[in-house]
Amino acid sequence: MTTDRPAATTTRQETEDTPTCPQCGRAGLMSARFPHTWHGHNGKPVRGFKQAVLCATCDDGEETATALSALIDEQGAVRPEDVETFILLAVDWTGRARRRAPDPKALAEEEQRWHLDEL
Ligand SMILES: [Zn+2]
Repeated sequence: MTTDRPAATTTRQETEDTPTCPQCGRAGLMSARFPHTWHGHNGKPVRGFKQAVLCATCDDGEETATALSALIDEQGAVRPEDVETFILLAVDWTGRARRRAPDPKALAEEEQRWHLDEL
């Protein structure tokens, strides 16, 4: 085991893995994936995952999302001096995303697009 550590550099988000925004289709700044349980038609719980995408356009105006967006540069990196703030904001943003209920109208439109092979 070695104790050598790489020199401090910027923290890079996995931008190549960051999905596009489900609302506008633009590139997402970051995403979070977390366990999510819902109840199926038979009333039994269905366990899966839910994903939230931070979008500079759609999330503009929401305080935490706007602050997070400001810390991520054009290459998807966060400056070392901003990492602690970034982590605190990311935890808060993820908690808000976990509690966010889906918009039934948007869900119905997305289902229709899926049936039309647009997704
Ligand atoms: Zn968007």
